[in-house]
Amino acid sequence: MHLGEYLACATKRLIEAGGDNPRLSAEILACEVLCLHGVQSVSDSARLFCITETRRELSEDEVERLDSLLAKRAAGCPVAQIVGRKEFYGRDFLVSRHTLIPRPETELLIDIILQKLPDCLQIFADLGTGTGCIGCILAVERPSWRGLLIDSSMAALKVAQANSIRLGLEQRLTVLCGDIQRQPLMGCSLDILVSNPPYIAWSERDSVMEEVFRWEPRDALFSEENGLQHLAGCIRAAAQTLRPGGWVLLEHGATQGQAVRQMLCDQGVFVRSETAHDLAGHERCTYAQKRVK
Ligand code: GLN
Repeated sequence: MHLGEYLACATKRLIEAGGDNPRLSAEILACEVLCLHGVQSVSDSARLFCITETRRELSEDEVERLDSLLAKRAAGCPVAQIVGRKEFYGRDFLVSRHTLIPRPETELLIDIILQKLPDCLQIFADLGTGTGCIGCILAVERPSWRGLLIDSSMAALKVAQANSIRLGLEQRLTVLCGDIQRQPLMGCSLDILVSNPPYIAWSERDSVMEEVFRWEPRDALFSEENGLQHLAGCIRAAAQTLRPGGWVLLEHGATQGQAVRQMLCDQGVFVRSETAHDLAGHERCTYAQKRVK
C-alpha cells in the first residue's frame, strides 16, 4: 500500500470515530512514523510531506506503527499527546498529559505583546505556564528579555523546562513552582505579567469538548467563581508586582471581557485597559498598563 491510499483509509476511519480534523490528524501521524530525520511534525510540514510522498510505498512495519498511532487517535487521544508535540507560534512544543495543549487563540497574547509593547521592556512572568509556550515564544522573539515561567504543577514545569532547553533559552528563562493565587513574585518588579489561566466555569462543563475534558488536565481548564478565580489572582499579582508603566495581559473566555475589565478597574492602578478579539470574533484577551504615577 502506498501513503496516499493509507491516508485515504485512515481519514475515513477517523471520520467514523468522530474527531476533529481527520485528514490533518492522519497526516501528522504519518509524518511522525515516516519522517525520521528531524522534520517536525507541525501541521504545514506534515501536509507538505504527505503531498510530496503520496506514492511512497509503505513497509509492513510502517503500516503496523501507523495503525497503532491511528488506533490511539480513533480512541480519542489528542494528536498532540500521541506525538508528544504541538506547534505554537511557528515552534514545536513538547506536551504531556500534565500540560494544556497550546491553542492557536493564545497566539493573540503574543501578537499584542510584540506589536503594541515597546521592545525596551525586559522582565516578564508567564503565570500558569503549562508547556511554557507563551514565555518561550516571548524569549525567542525578544532576545534581550528574561522571564519567569511559573506553574503549580511540577510535572508541567518539567515540560516547560525541557521546552526552554530545546529552544536554547535556559539562560534567560527561570522555571518556578507557584500558584496563581499565591504566586512567588513578591518583591519582583516586572515589566510584563502574561497569563492564559484556567478560566472555564464548572457550570460550562457541558460545552467543553469530550476529548478536551477527558485528556487534558482539569486544573489547567477550570476555575472557581464562575471561571474568574484565577483571572482575579493574576490581576492581584499584576497590581502588586508590575513596576509602574508595566503591562498585564490575560487570555479569558468569550463572555468574560467585561468582568476582567471591571476587576482591573477595581484595583485602581491600571489604565488603558483594552480587550482584543480572536479570529472567531470573540473577546479573548484583555490588557492594561499599570499607572505610572
Ligand atoms: N500557558 C499555557 C498555554 O497557554 C498553559 C495554560 C493553562 O494551563 N491554562 O497553553
